[in-house]
Amino acid sequence: MTNLKAKYEDLPEDYKALGGRGLTSTIVAKEVPPTCDPIGLHNKLVFAPGIVTGSTAPTSGRISVGGKSPLTGGIKEANAGTNFSQRLARLRIAAIVVEGKVKGNEYYLLKLTKDKTEFLKADKWVGKGLYDAYKEIFKEFGEKKVSVCGVGIAAELRGAMAGISFNDPEGLPSRYAGRGGLGAVMASKGLKFIVVDDTGAPGFEIANKKVFDEGIAKVRDALLAHSVTKKGGALNSYGTSVLVNIINEAQGLPQNNFSSGQDKRAEKISGEAKAEAIKKNGGVRPHFCSPGCIIQCSEVWTKPGGKDPVGCLEYESVWALGANCGIYDLDIVAELNRACNDLGTDTIETGGTIAVAMEGGVIKFGDGKGALSLTEEIRKKTPLGRILANGTQFTGRAFGVSRIPTVKGQSLPAYDPRAIKGIGVTYATTPMGADHTAGYAIATEIMGVGGKADPRDPKKAELSRNLQLATAAIDASGYCLFIAFAILDIPEGLQGVVESLNGVLGTNLTVNDVSVIGKQIIDIERDFNKAAGFTSAHDRLPEFFIDEKLPPSNEVFNVSNEELDSVF
Ligand code: SF4
Repeated sequence: MTNLKAKYEDLPEDYKALGGRGLTSTIVAKEVPPTCDPIGLHNKLVFAPGIVTGSTAPTSGRISVGGKSPLTGGIKEANAGTNFSQRLARLRIAAIVVEGKVKGNEYYLLKLTKDKTEFLKADKWVGKGLYDAYKEIFKEFGEKKVSVCGVGIAAELRGAMAGISFNDPEGLPSRYAGRGGLGAVMASKGLKFIVVDDTGAPGFEIANKKVFDEGIAKVRDALLAHSVTKKGGALNSYGTSVLVNIINEAQGLPQNNFSSGQDKRAEKISGEAKAEAIKKNGGVRPHFCSPGCIIQCSEVWTKPGGKDPVGCLEYESVWALGANCGIYDLDIVAELNRACNDLGTDTIETGGTIAVAMEGGVIKFGDGKGALSLTEEIRKKTPLGRILANGTQFTGRAFGVSRIPTVKGQSLPAYDPRAIKGIGVTYATTPMGADHTAGYAIATEIMGVGGKADPRDPKKAELSRNLQLATAAIDASGYCLFIAFAILDIPEGLQGVVESLNGVLGTNLTVNDVSVIGKQIIDIERDFNKAAGFTSAHDRLPEFFIDEKLPPSNEVFNVSNEELDSVF
């Protein structure tokens, strides 16, 4: 970005079997100094489609983004589902590595086509919401032939809650590599948008088509058979927020900044209520974030008459902007979600931030209009907006709050670790900072997928470790993490995933290699964090989870430090 030049390099031999999180974390660990300033000259931002992304493998349109996180100070990988990744893969681009920094305060749009790379001025979109900006960009560059990724106003502020947005099939800026503030890294380099046009692309390469085809048939069969992933199944019917009622029932749905684990009003923001409202309002459900998804957990939420489309209202977003702020009105939650997408913020971090601001007395719990006005502070770039844009921990400290639900500076997701302990072990020990997707123990503890475990049993190191290793491998593969529900229960599905990777790469991996690949990735990430100054003292939950009982279960987080340290 310093010289506005793009250089094409062949993929080094030892990177050839890498993709997604495996490739982003490897490049970041090799090329970024662990102690560098995340929004300074020496950080790099890496975009990489997964290994099978761009092929006909089902449910595999993922893009990974990696860099040093301004929120955690450690290594970060965040991923999203979007056709942006599939176009990149069809252009046979294994990764984009953004380095350097524009001199001055200008912003640029990077345009990639089969034949050339251009840096175009993007200043006209500075200060503009992403819904309008995406509309204009699609109009300018060709609605049907390009995909877009970009950062919004929160990133212009270098806010540590700024995510990187990617278009959904409708062209809305609703699919986010949200976590860890990577949007601020992108903006700090002077890069506002990337537009990919794959016209005339050479297409996806497969080393052994027969092995690949046999593998993806097994994956498809498993997805279509499992109750969570099949057509008419839980995710397809209600989206991820099918979990609202389930986790509320388990007394682990955090309310009012993690003050209670249950509230009967939660039903009003459930997946079931959402599906009904979408039917009435004229939105779309089910829906996919990227072509080729069989599960189709997504949707397009709109106001009545199909107005002001938001995109998907995920469980995490509905919880963060809803129950965790004491707001039980889906229309307001959707408006808050739209504000997050428009400003370019991570919905989990935004909800966590609003909740600690409520606890700090800035507005009251349950004040939906007040919550919307806080997002406007970010839009107007006021001093308060600049504090909020830096996330839950920064805002909590600014307002004298001691109950700040973060690990390594990143806001906790939608499961109270006192009621469901295994997910707490993942929050504490993943190199990513509090992140449910890093090792989704809820699958086993609540949904009985991949075995059964008592959510209140504090012995969860092994469960979390196994899930973290498997997840790192899936994040590298390009498959959506939601395939895990099916392949944890159906062995042929897992076999199919491995065969599809072998088909693409021409390798001879076995099912046993999945955890080996995952361990290699997590070792690289933990080594980076260690060199950045992290110790086992950072693999802990905030003390209020240990000291304060969670109503109505009256559970505390009673997982010992020895148990946490035994994960890795
Ligand atoms: S399951 Fe949902 S998030 Fe995953 S690829 Fe399909 S639509 Fe996207």
